[in-house]
Amino acid sequence: MDAKHDHKKLGRELGLFGTDPLIGAGLPYWLPDGAVVRHELEEYVRGEERRAGYRHVYSPVLGKRELYEISGHWSHYSEDMFPPMKLGEEEVVLRPSLCPHHAVIYRSRARSYRELPLRMAELGPMYRSELSGVLGGLTRVRAIQLNDGHIFCTLDQVAEEARGALRLIREAYRVLGIEAARYRLSLPGPGGKYVAAPELWERSVALLVEVLESEGIEYQAEEGEAAFYGPKIDVQVVDPQGREFTLSTVQVDFHQPERFDLHYIGADGAKHRPVMVHRAVIGSVERAVAQLVEQHGGAFPAWLAPVQVVLLPVGEAEVAQAAELVERCLAAGLRAELAGPELGSLGARIREHRLVPYQAVIGSREAAQGLVALRLRDGRRLDPLPAGEALARISARVAERRTDLWD
Ligand SMILES: [Zn+2]
Repeated sequence: MDAKHDHKKLGRELGLFGTDPLIGAGLPYWLPDGAVVRHELEEYVRGEERRAGYRHVYSPVLGKRELYEISGHWSHYSEDMFPPMKLGEEEVVLRPSLCPHHAVIYRSRARSYRELPLRMAELGPMYRSELSGVLGGLTRVRAIQLNDGHIFCTLDQVAEEARGALRLIREAYRVLGIEAARYRLSLPGPGGKYVAAPELWERSVALLVEVLESEGIEYQAEEGEAAFYGPKIDVQVVDPQGREFTLSTVQVDFHQPERFDLHYIGADGAKHRPVMVHRAVIGSVERAVAQLVEQHGGAFPAWLAPVQVVLLPVGEAEVAQAAELVERCLAAGLRAELAGPELGSLGARIREHRLVPYQAVIGSREAAQGLVALRLRDGRRLDPLPAGEALARISARVAERRTDLWD
């Protein structure tokens, strides 16, 4: 095992997240630097979803037991759910998924075919009674921040919507520098875990196969990996220990629209049943960050980095100028900090900040001429640039979420 890229170890060393036995196994908290990464990731996803026509909602983390009886979670998924809480005559449950809430939001008023495809998204918490919740990690957690989305659409629209979701996933991987190990078509297996509706399963599988093939994506079909309500395309990633995880997913579901009696009024004036496409672009925030930490060894793409620019005055004489540049970086929306000579030699300070994408050195010559000498995290050293130009170029690259540091 390559300990350098173990996200638990790096998460502790880099001050990204932690756990405490008093909070409990599988219930990590996020420290300020980790919260920065998470926040940037969430904002990126929300922005991409908005551009792709999703509308965001918020829904509560609790629901009545009855909600999950209707959705089918109670009979097919209860071993992964926290036990219900008694509240007077009612029983409420920590939600094991966001789908039922979204189905209820969909049916909160009459829907017309003109509104379809209706794309609803939420980055919201869900809970899993993971018995093996591991202290210190983000990959086996009991509280999960899910990047969920549901598209309510007609049967004719399913393939195009699933295609759109796959494109969001692939674009996110490009910007995040995450590599997909393989695509899996997850089919039902033997046993009573899956809702029985052979004809609907067949139709859903055929739709997903059509999407995969038309996109030219190679995939492997595997039995026993489907959701209880339908088949899915899972995007698999591999951690440094060679273990495979599902990060992103696209699912077709005829079952929950039936259970919740969802409908829309068609052009013919009659009621029709929509199909639900479930999709997660980055899966859970926890798993996505674990993958980012391990894949990049803590050297995040600049737009995700907790600190993007470190200002390094060579001596005391340059400290005031460096401090002023920190202010200019902050005003430009960059995350910057000062590492002054009291912290040690220049070489030691550069080593200490080796994961910071841009290290701006200010010596006497730079200070006199209003320049900075940029060192990039990858070891490149650039000729001194006017400070304003350096800042503008860094800001532009961060705003574009570029994965390379310089031209
Ligand atoms: Zn769902």
